[in-house]
Amino acid sequence: MMIDTHCHLNIMTNKEPEALLTAHQLAELETVMAHIHDSGVGHMVCVGTSVPESRNCIAIAERYARVAATIGVHPCDITQPVEVIISELESLINAHRKVIVGIGEIGLDYYHQPYDKHLQEVVFKAQLALAIKYELPVVIHIRDAGDDALAILELYKDTLHGVIHCFSLDKAAAEKIISWGWYIGIDGPITYPKNNYLREIVATVPLTGIFLETDAPFLPPQHLRGKRNCPSNLGIIAQAIADARGVSFEDVVRQTTANAKELFRI
Ligand SMILES: [Zn+2]
Repeated sequence: MMIDTHCHLNIMTNKEPEALLTAHQLAELETVMAHIHDSGVGHMVCVGTSVPESRNCIAIAERYARVAATIGVHPCDITQPVEVIISELESLINAHRKVIVGIGEIGLDYYHQPYDKHLQEVVFKAQLALAIKYELPVVIHIRDAGDDALAILELYKDTLHGVIHCFSLDKAAAEKIISWGWYIGIDGPITYPKNNYLREIVATVPLTGIFLETDAPFLPPQHLRGKRNCPSNLGIIAQAIADARGVSFEDVVRQTTANAKELFRI
């Protein structure tokens, strides 16, 4: 069985992501869950990007045994002072510790305008400290901010473990991250025709450093572009990694599942 280590099930059933899921919306996920399970995905990590979305990830994880939650505030979703963010996340951890397997997605994003570098750094570091306090791994979002993000993570690499979600940095960065005992997350873009460079990275780094992710409902694989992604497409990512490395699909699944279990303790 594969593990989708990064998806947003909460958004798949909710047209207003910041609103709390209704009982009806939670129940609606039942059919999606059955379809996902039939595709060979045994577990999923539902990743929060704001406090309300983190609450919804928790609600899904408390209802569906195959789902675990991570909680955190994405660099593009900072709407409250850092002290408020941390205290809200902390109360979620204290009330729902059983289903929370990590802090994320957190990080730096200099792509979406306008952005405040200083504020992003403060909120990022505060959440890294929260992860250390509760001994949780981290799910990292980096966009157009590779140098700054890696410089920060370098300070925490020995006290924390984590995954760089939707890896899009260069080969040297991949090797560095994996040498820390961290992971790189591989998503739908591995199937895009132009992405030879990513396939080359995936072909050469150790498989012990790779995570399977869909980022559903975002980033569908090549032949589904323009459509809504679903964790049931995870096998397409595993197959693309197998093809790039010249190994079997089963080998990729076995190792990446072991990797995910080790980091998230699921
Ligand atoms: Zn995501």
